[in-house]
Amino acid sequence: MITLTTDVLVIGGGATGAGVAWDASLRGLDVILVDRLDLAEGTSGRFHGMLHSGGRYVVKDPAAAAECIAENRILRDVAADCIEDTGGLFVTTPFDDPAFADRFAQGCRESDVDCEEIPVAQALRDEPRLNPGISRAFRVPDANIDVWKTVWALAHGAQQRGARILPYHEVVAIQRDGDTVTGARVHDVRAGEELEIEARVTVNASGAWAGRIAALAGIEGVRVLPGRGIMIAMNHRLVNTVINRCQMPTDGDIIVPIRTVSVIGTTDQHSEDPDDHTVHEDEVDAMFDEGEKLVPGFRTARALRVWTGVRPLFEDAKAADTETRNVTRAHALLDHSERDGVGGFITITGGKLTTFRLMAEDTVDAVCRALNVERPCLTASVPLPGSERGEHYRLGERLARKEAALRQQQIICECELVSREKLEVAVKQTGSTNLDDIRRQLRLGMGPCQGGFCIYRAAGIMHELDSLSAQDVDLALTSFLQERWKGVWPVLYGDQLRQARFDEWVFHGILDVDHLPDPEPGS
Ligand SMILES: Cc1cc2nc3c(=O)[nH]c(=O)nc-3n(C[C@H](O)[C@H](O)[C@H](O)COP(=O)(O)OP(=O)(O)OC[C@H]3O[C@@H](n4cnc5c(N)ncnc54)[C@H](O)[C@@H]3O)c2cc1C
Repeated sequence: MITLTTDVLVIGGGATGAGVAWDASLRGLDVILVDRLDLAEGTSGRFHGMLHSGGRYVVKDPAAAAECIAENRILRDVAADCIEDTGGLFVTTPFDDPAFADRFAQGCRESDVDCEEIPVAQALRDEPRLNPGISRAFRVPDANIDVWKTVWALAHGAQQRGARILPYHEVVAIQRDGDTVTGARVHDVRAGEELEIEARVTVNASGAWAGRIAALAGIEGVRVLPGRGIMIAMNHRLVNTVINRCQMPTDGDIIVPIRTVSVIGTTDQHSEDPDDHTVHEDEVDAMFDEGEKLVPGFRTARALRVWTGVRPLFEDAKAADTETRNVTRAHALLDHSERDGVGGFITITGGKLTTFRLMAEDTVDAVCRALNVERPCLTASVPLPGSERGEHYRLGERLARKEAALRQQQIICECELVSREKLEVAVKQTGSTNLDDIRRQLRLGMGPCQGGFCIYRAAGIMHELDSLSAQDVDLALTSFLQERWKGVWPVLYGDQLRQARFDEWVFHGILDVDHLPDPEPGS
């Protein structure tokens, strides 16, 4: 069996784990990061897309609000290219308690969240689709953040400093030598092999799965309550600003404009299983009802897709409450040498995507203490690869770039403007044959047709590049379609139903994907 050695083994390639890898690499530590799947395929790739200003938490959880605004300001500098500065609005609709608005404004002052009350007429001018019955409006620095760009920038930055990033490597055992964790045994899912990773410190950054990884190390009582939430992407930017209801956090009270769509969310249901992605019809209905309160006519817009994510909510052992909205959104750092007498093992969980950098900083501080070295954290000042110019992403820049070189580029995905060249580079760089991995990298197939036009083209190109045999192409194509279908069927009505029928004709009527011939040997 192959054995790798390192200073720090990071388990989990979401925003937190990738943040830890980046931070530790910047401090000159040798790092290996493993994830059982592709990077950001856990909760990070399934979130609502919002860089919180902290406004959402100012009344309910002021400490979480203060963390959010501090991190929001830092990320705008160091991860500028991953952020679209949409701004945010908190609005009091006719369905909200009017008294909450003053508590909200007071909470913003106390938590240092920048907040300006603006006239309702101005809010309606800026966002003409908003409910005309709103009575108060507050401007805050909410934004959207592209998680795939962020996580891959963190991973590439760490790689440039020598880190080894290993997606599709699942931890199957944690190794211990007496009271010390010495690393992990991992299963290389693609090669079908196992390898040992020996590490001076092992960081458990596996989010909602953190309790399971801790249990592999023989540590009980790390309770992470999975809080499952759904989100629905609507076809257009119904709003251009992040819109929040000015009330205590509840279901379906935020609409986030992301690229060309707007996403409504979310719910918060206690679940026993972090891999539970069930979508309940009543939750979908509730989202549309709540959407109507913010944007009248919401229900008649075209819904593209629904998905779920699972919050890693760390439960204080003293609290017996399983109502997941009542568990803190702040993060939990567990140094198991202090907590359980087990050295070389640290768990970081809870928190939010907005606070991943701070979570990583706290974790790597603890790693340095365990290694008995003193190295300052640099992530608040060193920009991520791609963000050196400090410029935010702007809607329209992608189209402008494409239009400048329209004749030289073959467009594979019209909805997301993915060119053939970009696809070929991504396939060669990642070595991935999974069309869903390529989707996360390039946004291929994420637009209205949900892959109806682009995915067979992409599959053909991958075959032509010799990265996929004919048989593997068939498999990649059908598993992509099945994955997309999971998110499409719960919202099939109106134009999206017509689109799904059309896609069905393409894939079943023309390509007959259910009965693809067995390829000739060597084809
Ligand atoms: C519905 C919803 C909406 C949200 N919206 C927002 C928002 O708008 N803004 C915001 O700031 N936050 C939001 N959050 C919170 C945020 O998404 C999470 O806090 C954050 O993404 C957690 O990141 P993470 O890296 O800790 O966990 P994850 O991204 O889940 O990463 C953990 C990783 O561990 C891996 N793993 C598990 N088991 C193993 C194993 N055995 N071996 C190797 N790897 C393993 C998983 O594959 C996964 O990739 C939302 C959460 C939910 C559920």
